[in-house]
Amino acid sequence: MTQEKKVTVKKPAYIENDKLADEIRDLMKRKNKLYFNIMGSIGAGKTLLLERMAEKLAPLYKVFVINGDVATTIDADRIAKRGVDTVQINTGGGCHLNAKLIKNELDKINIDDYDIFFAENVGNLICPSAWDVGAQKNIVVVSITEGEYVIKKHPIIFKGAQIAVINKCDLDGMGFNSETLVEDAKKIKSGMEVICTSAKESTGINEFIAALGIKI
Ligand code: MG
Ligand code: ZN
Repeated sequence: MTQEKKVTVKKPAYIENDKLADEIRDLMKRKNKLYFNIMGSIGAGKTLLLERMAEKLAPLYKVFVINGDVATTIDADRIAKRGVDTVQINTGGGCHLNAKLIKNELDKINIDDYDIFFAENVGNLICPSAWDVGAQKNIVVVSITEGEYVIKKHPIIFKGAQIAVINKCDLDGMGFNSETLVEDAKKIKSGMEVICTSAKESTGINEFIAALGIKI
């Protein structure tokens, strides 16, 4: 005799996450704060871009950066040197930030003390796209050294982003090409803002800041 098994439907964790992410977004909007989620592979230059922006923003705004990494405080230590407040979240193996991790950090500070918030997500181009952190804009950073197919191969994360940053453009023409990447990003999502930067040489940073809607 076959015994019928009971099927239990578990609510996926990301449904809870999306609810909390919306709450964070509403809260930031109500308080008139800017909040951005920076995603991208390890080594794409997310932290150096944030350092360059921090240099320009710190004299004008109160900035808070939440750094996500599997281990170490390397990124937060670098950001802190630029004169902005920062906290490091070590996910301990987790490969993305989520709304709960962000909310935990926001609960420890006074949001009203700051104007602009950044989350630097854990370095990869896959799962951060599935975990809303409640930001107003999602930004994907890729460097031209990641290969000519890096955008084509990761359409989901680009579809969920409003801005694509093509970094390491100081190497443009030196065996690497930014043009295809710019085209790919625009093809994946119409209306995508694409900015070429060199965090190393601090070029394109003003354009990036303008794309975020921040006046300097
Ligand atoms: Mg980093
Ligand atoms: Zn993950």
